[in-house]
Amino acid sequence: MSLPTHARIVIVGGGIAGCSTAYHLSRMGEADVLLLEQGKLTCGTTWHAAGLIGQMRPNRTMTQMSKYGIELYAGLEAETGLATGWKQCGSVNVAATPERMKVYAKQAALARSFGVEVELIDARRAGELYPLLRTDDLVGGLWIPGDGKANPADLTMSLAKGARQRGVKVVEDIEVTGVLTEHGRVTGVRTAQGDVRCEILVNCAGQWARQFGALAGVNVPLYSAEHFYIVTDRIAGVHPMLPVMRDPDGFIYYKEEVGGLLMGGFEPQAKPWAVDPIPATFQFQLLGEDWDQFEPLMTNAMHRTPCLETAKIKMLLNGPESFTPDGNFILGEAPELHNYFVAAGFNSAGIANSGGAGRLISEWIVGGEAPTDLWEVDIRRFGAHTANRRLLSERTGETLGLHYAMRWPRHELVTARPLRTSPLYDLLAAKGAVFGAKNGWERANYFGPPSAGTVEPGLGRPGWLDWVIAEQRATRETVALYDQSSFGKLLLQGRDALVVLQRLCANEIDIAVDAMVYTALLNERGGFESDLTVIRVAAERFLIITGSAQPTRDMDWIQRHIAPAEHAFLSDVSAMSAVLSLMGPKARELLARVSPDDLSPQGLKFSHTREIDLGFARVRAARMSYVGGPGFELHVPIEMTRHVYLALTAAGSDLGLRDAGYYALDALRIEAGRRAWGAELGPDETPFEAGLAYAIKLDKPVEFIGRAALHRLQGQALRKKLVTIVLDAAEHYVWGGETVLVDGAPVGELTSAGWSPKANACVALAYLRGDAALQAHAGTRVAIDLWGDAVAATAWDRWPPAT
Ligand SMILES: Cc1cc2nc3c(=O)[nH]c(=O)nc-3n(C[C@H](O)[C@H](O)[C@H](O)COP(=O)(O)OP(=O)(O)OC[C@H]3O[C@@H](n4cnc5c(N)ncnc54)[C@H](O)[C@@H]3O)c2cc1C
Repeated sequence: MSLPTHARIVIVGGGIAGCSTAYHLSRMGEADVLLLEQGKLTCGTTWHAAGLIGQMRPNRTMTQMSKYGIELYAGLEAETGLATGWKQCGSVNVAATPERMKVYAKQAALARSFGVEVELIDARRAGELYPLLRTDDLVGGLWIPGDGKANPADLTMSLAKGARQRGVKVVEDIEVTGVLTEHGRVTGVRTAQGDVRCEILVNCAGQWARQFGALAGVNVPLYSAEHFYIVTDRIAGVHPMLPVMRDPDGFIYYKEEVGGLLMGGFEPQAKPWAVDPIPATFQFQLLGEDWDQFEPLMTNAMHRTPCLETAKIKMLLNGPESFTPDGNFILGEAPELHNYFVAAGFNSAGIANSGGAGRLISEWIVGGEAPTDLWEVDIRRFGAHTANRRLLSERTGETLGLHYAMRWPRHELVTARPLRTSPLYDLLAAKGAVFGAKNGWERANYFGPPSAGTVEPGLGRPGWLDWVIAEQRATRETVALYDQSSFGKLLLQGRDALVVLQRLCANEIDIAVDAMVYTALLNERGGFESDLTVIRVAAERFLIITGSAQPTRDMDWIQRHIAPAEHAFLSDVSAMSAVLSLMGPKARELLARVSPDDLSPQGLKFSHTREIDLGFARVRAARMSYVGGPGFELHVPIEMTRHVYLALTAAGSDLGLRDAGYYALDALRIEAGRRAWGAELGPDETPFEAGLAYAIKLDKPVEFIGRAALHRLQGQALRKKLVTIVLDAAEHYVWGGETVLVDGAPVGELTSAGWSPKANACVALAYLRGDAALQAHAGTRVAIDLWGDAVAATAWDRWPPAT
């Protein structure tokens, strides 16, 4: 086919992601779509994928996505007439440790509540389902009858045929070499055969997506790793409907392939593929065998399926696949360039995920905003630092292995750290800070005693809990200092800054200079795009404080909603100031020792800020507390942070001042009922469901985004409702993500959890659905599915109850 000169939508890349996107766009009525592939369809990574297709994902949206993918694949052949190789053979997932089995139990409870059929099985049943298994050292497993497998190349060709049947043009052997832009928008693509004008571009370039993105200044942080499987000759007892089998403790998986076994895996220390740039001519190509790298998987496989000891191995396939810094794929409209969409970085699950991802990106393109909460895979979750190639290479060596690694609660990645640090990093490290990383920022999780050593991860009461409790006690009884410098800080200034914020924020922003306000940024559906605090630092200057993970996303959301004619300028000033939060009943007494300014409740009212002297420094003090109770957030110019910290710690030692970290902070905010974006709040939750109607000014004299939806929803029955859950027994430690049960049936799940000093037990926030969302809760008896055991708890609309 010759190259058209114009198409409304151009898709770059003819692997499964590109073909699924083309298929779904055409199904949504977009016929003017052109797919360009530098080689032949599937020639990149798709052709050599193993083809395992599973549906269990960690949350509701992603599970729905996978379930949809399976339904699509199951019906595609009937629709297009092209075979896909789809077989619903089910999957057996085995556990070699009791801890793995507990994780399965948690996943099973969640999967059931998401509508996926799963069955926890014992080792004997695993052996019946998969007769090649060695089972004597297994604890049990998980059987998912709806899982299956397909032939990735056939599946892709079938999707492409479905797209072509509805008018999509597919042109092969055309490399896209550039992106044309005007005024920050995509206007076309460049190829050796000429330019093609377009309104929308979708980067589905697989492992090339990073270098292709860079052509237009778009950050697509992914990096390739060598990825392996073997294929054996025929083995007795292996038949086409033999289930897929996964042994994550051995890092390996299996699938039937022409009467033999295809066995591959995810080694804990992977091998990045250091080729930069990846040549366009890498088509239907593989990398050289590396038996040393594959050996740990082979050893485990011979143990788990002894038939491999004698089976003839036909080939060791080594094909590169791209991985991302957090192991989740990348979807959405790039914050750097309007109408530039990305669907790439599939972390070795692109066959399973592309059916759903193709639909989601198409809905995003056609609908103009993300159709549902896609934060986990949203391209805006990455900071600019993730474009660094050494970071990506080292992180890829780690994230490949995450696929099957035992994910202990509060698991932290270890590569490419420390990177973004507050000026206090070394001081806090010397005081025993144990850091976690968020968006590249090092943040103290807790402070351990010098003798602490490494705390072993586990599923029960954590080894660090006593130290966290001491930090919580200081916060509630004396005073604690939290370094929250990783907060995102955005500055919006200009004659129209107020107009812009009034349009975006659901709360009243026309506040006095120096006042601050907590507000939601809502989408047209009335869901939370963000929640943040705004300080009016001058009549036409607003400082916006947002979560550490959100600056790119919030910048994008705000920037997108500034009209070209408006005089409003947004900058990311996160790196210019630190935030030290001084929390507790003695916070004011401590501040009075280092500042001559009046910080009494009259001198500085709640939700107000003021520039004060502190030591020799000038800082902005805000009377505000996320953890509940009295406290101040101090916004400190970055270069004075060390001085301010030393002044505070010197003055506070006899008041019981203690450094405290994010584990204490998070648990205390849960205890205080404070919601967090990304946990309780997201694009699919409304202020009514989240119990935050008080922070919405529906009658504000200015129209704001989401108001019409809220008016429609007002007074209607809630689909879900946020409640506080309090565990009965101190020995039960919950982490978040557990299923809530009423009379044994799932009614919701915990969004976040932590230790409450007030309850002397764990507290959690949870969304309850169905009837449970309609009832009042003042101590309703519920149970939590904790690693497969139902443990007793109570649910509260308001906790602690008013006495
Ligand atoms: C060994 C192995 C086993 C795997 N097993 C599984 C599995 O069992 N289940 C599963 O779900 N996933 C599996 N995967 C992962 C899966 O193969 C990938 O996630 C998926 O194929 C990625 O699809 P894609 O469309 O994003 O990329 P690709 O298939 O690589 O497609 C991208 C296309 O873009 C083209 N392109 C790039 N740049 C340009 C340009 N400038 N102009 C024009 N065209 C361009 C490329 O030529 C390529 O064809 C496996 C991967 C490997 C390596």
